[in-house]
Amino acid sequence: MTRPPDGGPDLKQYGNMKKVVKFGGSSLADAAQFKKVAEIIHADESRVYVIPSAPGKRFSGDTKVTDLLYHMYEEAKEKKDFSKTLQTIKDRYDQIIKGLGLKNFSLDREFDVIEHELLDDPDEDYTASRGEYLNGRIMARYLKYEFIDAQEVIFFYEDGSLNLEKTTFTLRRRLEKVPRAVIPGFYGQGYNMKVKTFSRGGSDITGSIVAGACKADVYENWTDVSGFMVADPRIVSNPVRIETITYRELRELSYMGASVLHEEAIFPVRHEGIPINIRNTNAPDEDGTWIVESTCQKSGYVVTGIAGKKGFCTVLISKAMMNSEIGFGRKVLQAFEENQISFEHMPSGIDTMTIVVHEDEFMDKEQRVVSAIHRLAGPDSVEIESDLALIAVVGRGMKSTRGTAGRIFSALAHAHVNVRMIDQGSSELNIIIGVENEDFETAIRAIYDIFVLTQI
Ligand code: ASP
Repeated sequence: MTRPPDGGPDLKQYGNMKKVVKFGGSSLADAAQFKKVAEIIHADESRVYVIPSAPGKRFSGDTKVTDLLYHMYEEAKEKKDFSKTLQTIKDRYDQIIKGLGLKNFSLDREFDVIEHELLDDPDEDYTASRGEYLNGRIMARYLKYEFIDAQEVIFFYEDGSLNLEKTTFTLRRRLEKVPRAVIPGFYGQGYNMKVKTFSRGGSDITGSIVAGACKADVYENWTDVSGFMVADPRIVSNPVRIETITYRELRELSYMGASVLHEEAIFPVRHEGIPINIRNTNAPDEDGTWIVESTCQKSGYVVTGIAGKKGFCTVLISKAMMNSEIGFGRKVLQAFEENQISFEHMPSGIDTMTIVVHEDEFMDKEQRVVSAIHRLAGPDSVEIESDLALIAVVGRGMKSTRGTAGRIFSALAHAHVNVRMIDQGSSELNIIIGVENEDFETAIRAIYDIFVLTQI
């Protein structure tokens, strides 16, 4: 058997199968969780690149290390004494190191550097990124994998967006020479060579980037739930798990608030057609959810998932003969653009169009938008309504099933929910329904019941 130079196992016997595995904060919250993670990695030789988050909550009421780091940065920025927070963070890592029995390994020098930076010139992204960096150091040592600092391989543009081209090029070349590695999640290098982080939960994106760059066979995302549920478990008790979902379906659901994976984590793997498998560190035998480009697997129910959000407003614009006025829509949208408001949906009738916006983004600017619509488009009337909740019923199976909309609306009527808006996406992948904020939970339960419970 030919072994790579580091003495690691021969990947050829696994048909060169490569998996990138990302572990979330709760999967790495303490030494016991680290041990579970190592067992998972060792159970499958193809799990070659590991992306750790920072230690998360160990119990409810605990504080995530990333939150402690942000707090410490605030203290340092205001020139307050941050030594207590620093010690709390240090204790968390020391407990992990001790619990793992790592001999001759300490992060003391790393903490000296962090303290020095905070005293000298505190930087928010640098400070927040240390949660992943330090966890990565421990993980690499524990697994005996090479450590690759994300700052050397992940790059951002000046405007803060990811430079995927440079990142992929650099990572690919680097990983060619490294058969197994730990790469901390959540950060990379900004245009000014300083550390730059993604938005919160961004380790998911790092995992996806690494998977895309090394053309992994699978991107496994390990967390504390066994995948995506058909509906939010805080609203529907014990919802069934989604076994397989397409990227497009997931995009619709995460846009509507279903949060297991960072919204932006889909794109790098999607680009390469790599499936994502959401798994549970605390129940590794469960299959979790597969996120794939396309599938002929039927989802079991007509509906793959139901998600929604409260807090929308509608702006209803009416004008007689609107249908024959060229450029009317553009003028209306210009009023929103001028006020830097993005719109979410735009259902339209013959003489009406409705623009759906986020209430909190719109509230302060509403009168400016209304006058801009009058100035630019000259409508007959503009009416604003608030307290709207949107629910997306998403499913690739809807296209080929008769009566889906009928079933949704009869379920809502039976539950005494008044439907205020309907928008069927042109992809026939989703139906969006607007209801009163106060009917939101009832509506989700009613839709879940009709598609899932009555099918069991
Ligand atoms: N540790 C970071 C956060 O708490 C990033 C992550 O966990 O993905 O947001």
